[in-house]
Amino acid sequence: MNSVFLRAPIGAYHAGQHLDIKLTAADGYAAQRSYSIASAPGAPRVELVIERLEDGEVSPYFFEVAQAGDTLDVRGPIGGHFVWRPEDGGPLLLIAAGSGIAPLLSIVRHWAEGSSETPVTLLYSARTWDDLAFSPELLALEERAPGFRLVATTTRGRRHRATDYERRLDRALVHEVLAKSPLSPRLVYVCGSTAFVEVATTAVVDEGVVPSRVRTERFGGTG
Ligand SMILES: Cc1cc2nc3c(=O)[nH]c(=O)nc-3n(C[C@H](O)[C@H](O)[C@H](O)COP(=O)(O)OP(=O)(O)OC[C@H]3O[C@@H](n4cnc5c(N)ncnc54)[C@H](O)[C@@H]3O)c2cc1C
Repeated sequence: MNSVFLRAPIGAYHAGQHLDIKLTAADGYAAQRSYSIASAPGAPRVELVIERLEDGEVSPYFFEVAQAGDTLDVRGPIGGHFVWRPEDGGPLLLIAAGSGIAPLLSIVRHWAEGSSETPVTLLYSARTWDDLAFSPELLALEERAPGFRLVATTTRGRRHRATDYERRLDRALVHEVLAKSPLSPRLVYVCGSTAFVEVATTAVVDEGVVPSRVRTERFGGTG
């Protein structure tokens, strides 16, 4: 995964929103994709976190072609449902897989800036420990913010801490995470591939969370 920083202001945005980026070739062919904002609202630079899909049309552009100083065709900020504002409160359960961390990172960063006492649990799935993007930042936040808990689960590699998991997310895993939480989540945000979001959302609802309290963002794909 790569971070892309936008220098130009995009106007005010909420944690959880995304931008649409349009690439246009010399012959006029255009392709547009959505990318979530990973920075907190008000941050000096707007950060996007882009995962490279080898057979992708647009994502490889940010790894192979884009250069610092390039101009991008950007629309947004977009999105009204998958957002968190401090007044939305919590406790929060955030569930991410892969690049799905992007909008949840914005929420975590926004939460960390405030004086909010509301507990936040981030359940973050990746293939290996090294694939957990932003893990140094998240581990440091866990050290200094008593209300923040990171639970990592690695599907193809060993866990690094006894409190983490090394299997795919399923209902049993969600059950264990909820059982170890001091308070039930009032709001749940789930983000990742379409398939991951389906599994995670079904699991939290089966564990008793009211569906209207579960907000989802599907990035596409089956992984
Ligand atoms: C609201 C929203 C926010 C998004 N935010 C981000 C973000 O912050 N970071 C990010 O990296 N992506 C994000 N995405 C996904 C992004 O918009 C593109 O779909 C992704 O970059 C793939 O585009 P591509 O042109 O490279 O691949 P495509 O040419 O569109 O697809 C190539 C192949 O990969 C599959 N595929 C498509 N999307 C995914 C996926 N997400 N996971 C696995 N396989 C996939 C396709 O089915 C196809 O087989 C977001 C999507 C939405 C709808």
